[in-house]
Amino acid sequence: MRRPLVVANWKMNGNLADNRKLLQSFLASWQGVHHAEVGICPPAVYLPQAIELLGQTNVELGAQDVSAAENGAFTGEVSAAMLADIGCQFALVGHSERREYHAESDQLVARKFKAAQSHKLTPILCIGESLQQREAGETLMVVGEQLKAVIDEVGRAAIASSVIAYEPVWAIGTGLTATPEQAQEVHAFIREQLGAVGNSVRILYGGSVKPSNAAELFSQADIDGALVGGASLNSDDFYSICQAA
Ligand code: 13P
Repeated sequence: MRRPLVVANWKMNGNLADNRKLLQSFLASWQGVHHAEVGICPPAVYLPQAIELLGQTNVELGAQDVSAAENGAFTGEVSAAMLADIGCQFALVGHSERREYHAESDQLVARKFKAAQSHKLTPILCIGESLQQREAGETLMVVGEQLKAVIDEVGRAAIASSVIAYEPVWAIGTGLTATPEQAQEVHAFIREQLGAVGNSVRILYGGSVKPSNAAELFSQADIDGALVGGASLNSDDFYSICQAA
């Protein structure tokens, strides 16, 4: 049985005062035992604040990115060792905004995945096609290549302890959501590519997930939770999505 997982990606949003309000309000509702596991990825500078606010709760903490390098002359980068040191449990790698605006290649993303794992951070590998690629019928090929780069770097067995997030680029922040059937088709394909470890890996959907579409997405056989952007900045909406998982 794969436990559902819902992760908030705040992206480059927030400040000390708003983060506090958002997390306190979410935590006030999110108490006790829940079906789903929940994680939050604030901007890197706010990770220490989030650690303090999350305290002894069972809400986990992750970074939005991690360096592929171990340490040294890499100005502006944050290493996996540093994230683990302050108490992060996971890190997003290969988010489409990193791939697009920071020219991250499939190979660099694979090295980030490996760096995260080498410091016991769970990588959440983000993969997904653009609108142009979907319209050209290339969705499975693109997603397959993004996944293969990581399999080539670390092997299938190492992927067993990671999380994959399928995020079609055209559905991110656009209000367009993949239909549950469209998402399920890609999730099933990803699982199949993982071979023997496929059944144990959680595959999240991301792209305009909101309270009104979460339950239907989660009802699909291969959708194990969500990576939530915009709706995670509203505590009631994020709570509803977590409840639906
Ligand atoms: P939205 O939920 O705002 O579409 O963002 C999805 C996403 O990119 C999460 O990583």
